[in-house]
Parts: sequence; structure tokens; C-alpha cells
Amino acid sequence: MKSLDVIVVGGGMVGLSAALMAARQGLQVALVEAHAPKVWQREQPDLRVVALALDNQALIDSFGLWQEVLARRAFPYSAMTVFDAVHSSPLRFNAGDLGRPFLGHILENDVLVDVLWQAVIHEPNIHLHCPDKIGSLHETESEVRIGLQSGVELSARLAIGADGAASRVRDLIGVGVDEQDYGQKGVVAFVHTELGHQNTAWQRFLDTGPLAFLPFGDRCCSIVWSLPQAEADRLLQTEPEEFCHALDSAFAGTLGKSRLVSERAAFPLRRRLAKCMIQGRTLLLGDAAHAVHPLAGQGVNLGLRDVRALRDALTLSKQKTGDALDGGQLARWARTRYSENTLAALAFENINRVFSNDNMMLSLLRGRLLGLGNRITPMKNAMARYAAGL
Ligand SMILES: Cc1cc2nc3c(=O)[nH]c(=O)nc-3n(C[C@H](O)[C@H](O)[C@H](O)COP(=O)(O)OP(=O)(O)OC[C@H]3O[C@@H](n4cnc5c(N)ncnc54)[C@H](O)[C@@H]3O)c2cc1C
Repeated sequence: MKSLDVIVVGGGMVGLSAALMAARQGLQVALVEAHAPKVWQREQPDLRVVALALDNQALIDSFGLWQEVLARRAFPYSAMTVFDAVHSSPLRFNAGDLGRPFLGHILENDVLVDVLWQAVIHEPNIHLHCPDKIGSLHETESEVRIGLQSGVELSARLAIGADGAASRVRDLIGVGVDEQDYGQKGVVAFVHTELGHQNTAWQRFLDTGPLAFLPFGDRCCSIVWSLPQAEADRLLQTEPEEFCHALDSAFAGTLGKSRLVSERAAFPLRRRLAKCMIQGRTLLLGDAAHAVHPLAGQGVNLGLRDVRALRDALTLSKQKTGDALDGGQLARWARTRYSENTLAALAFENINRVFSNDNMMLSLLRGRLLGLGNRITPMKNAMARYAAGL
């Protein structure tokens, strides 16, 4: 049995970042991932995109990888505009108001995974088990033992479950989830638009759910359209022209006529919040701990913030006790991240409820919120700062 410091299960954006972070702290890490990594292909953009906030850009930069991301493909956005179907005055956030050139970058999931994989493969402190899956997990007082489906046995002082929303690690350690099915699906695609997007991330709230147009190159946007499941399924089957007609009508023609330039896909929207982020010597990170509504584009950002906070906890622990994996700091990390993630998940859910609703009282409240947001500069800047991760 191989003895290690940390075993990370799951090689998505969050698990790869966690493995790299721990290895760079001088820890011996095993990374277990079920699937061989997909190589990013310029000609076939990944429909799953991320609005990466500035704090998480800094995390990737701290690994020395941000230039690698830019060399593949990432598009900056310098403003965000939020509007609804009823009120005339949109809420607009500008990076310039925060003294920044950008609020973040739009990039493909595959780009970040590819860049992180390349780094992980060359990292001497990381031992890869891919493709392989976790089969069993047992804890003793001092270590976690993980059996892989290939028959390999691993043991370490800490295990990290970063194996996504349907986490097997979470099941194996018996942590329950609070689950809320929104009855919606997120439809994703790339479209060309008649008018330029002005490097702005646009979000329009409709009775049926939010619709986002995210800048993805010259007159090209990635759309994330939250819809009731049956309507999402219906729209996936329509002819491209009919789809774009419905899309332009939902977006009130804000960027003129659109033209579909990719496949369409849809993913179910549900909140899944693990009841805790630590159990014994096992941590849950990313979607394994908190899958949230994508309306604020914060899904991945919350997971990468788990990694950043864990890095700080390990550093502090090492300074204070000489042991990066001291249980006290890990427990504090889990408490703080649990409250921040829960607050964020519930905030996104309530925004979705208030803004995606045709109830007259809620419409009035919405109008007040948009109006106040625009008039009270500190409030507007605080919202922009949160979204940008400043
Ligand atoms: C189609 C789609 C579109 C999305 N679009 C958006 C969006 O526009 N904006 C947004 O903010 N969020 C979006 N999300 C959510 C976002 O992708 C997630 O928040 C993010 O991927 C979470 O990263 P993660 O690393 O925690 O989990 P994941 O990306 O799910 O990675 C988990 C990894 O664990 C591996 N794994 C799973 N089980 C095992 C096992 N038993 N053993 C070993 N490995 C295992 C998987 O192969 C995978 O590589 C989307 C999600 C989907 C599915």
C-alpha cells in the first residue's frame, strides 16, 4: 500500500487545482480520475464555459498557468448588464468603477482542465491513477484508506472528494445532501450576434428563468438559458432558425439577430449542498460539496475558492504547528467555507425566485432592487466586487 499525504478523488477543475496546490506545498499527492483527460481542441469549443472571477484567475496565475490559459483561449469582460422583462433601467457594473480593466474572463471548461492536467502530469509530487475510480474508503485514527476499482490500495493522512455533484466520496463517508430540483435545465450553445457584445456579460431575467449572453470572441457569445425542463427539451429539438427566433425574442433583440454556430446541450439545474465539508479526515470540495444555480456564473468560482482557502489553511497550519494537515485548521476551513457556500447557494436561489417570476409583488420588488442597485453606488460596487471576486 502506497503511503501519501493527500489523496484527491476527481480531476475536474477543482480536483486538479487542489492536487496542484497540495503538491506545491511539498505534500505527496495521489490523484484519482475516472476518465482519461479530454484534450482541448480549438476548432471544437467546449459548450461548458466558466466566467472565471479575478481572484480565481490569481489562483491559476499562482500555479504559473494563466499565460497558458490565455494562449489557448479566454475572453475578458469589462462590464455586466442585468435587466428584466418589465423594467426599463438595467443594472450595469463596469470594471472601470472598481479601477480594473476587467471583471473576469469567459473560458471553456476544457481549456482550464487541459492546462491544469499538463501541469499535474509534470508535477513530481503527484502520483496519477487515471483512468481509475474510487471503490472503497475507510478511516483509521491516523489515516484514510482508499481502494480503487483497479485493485490498487492507497492510504494518506487526508482525502479530498472533488468528484462532482454525484460524489461517490460523499456517499462513502455518509454525508447527506440538501437537494432542491429547480425543474429547470440550462441550455448552452454558441451564437453569432448581429451587434457586438461590447465585452459585456449580459443577463436577462424572464418569468421562465435567466438568460445569459457571455462574450466569446468577435460577435460571438456563449449562451446559458435556464428554462423549464419540457421547454428546454423542446427547444433542443427545434430547427436552428426557430431556436434563434425564440432566443432573440427572449433576449428582446438586445444584440440583434443571432445565428447558431454550435451544437446545443442542456444540463439539469438543481442545488445540492452537502450537509458538511469535512468528515473525519476527508474533505469535500467543489460540486461534491455545493452544486449551485449557474445564474451568477459562480459554480466553479466557489469550488476554486475552496481550494484557495484550503491553501491558506495549510500554510497557516504549517506555520503554527509545523504540520500542514493539522485537524484544527482543517475544521476551521470547513466551517468557514460551508457558511460562505451555503449563503451563496441560497442567495442565487432567491435571486432566481424573485427575478424569474411573473408575480406582481415580486415584479415591484425587482424594479426597486434594480433601481436601488443603480442609484446606490456603494451597493452596486459591492455587488460588482463580489462577482469579480475582489
Ligand atoms: C453541461 C454543464 C454545463 C455547465 N455550465 C456552467 C456554466 O455555464 N457556468 C457555471 O458556473 N457552471 C456551469 N456548470 C457547472 C460547473 O461545470 C461545475 O460547477 C464545475 O465543473 C465543478 O467542478 P468540479 O471540479 O467540482 O466537478 P466536475 O467538473 O464535475 O469534475 C468532477 C471530476 O470527478 C471525476 N469523477 C467522478 N466520479 C469519480 C469517481 N468515482 N472516481 C474518480 N473520479 C470521479 C469526473 O470524471 C470529473 O472529472 C456546468 C455543468 C455542466 C455539467
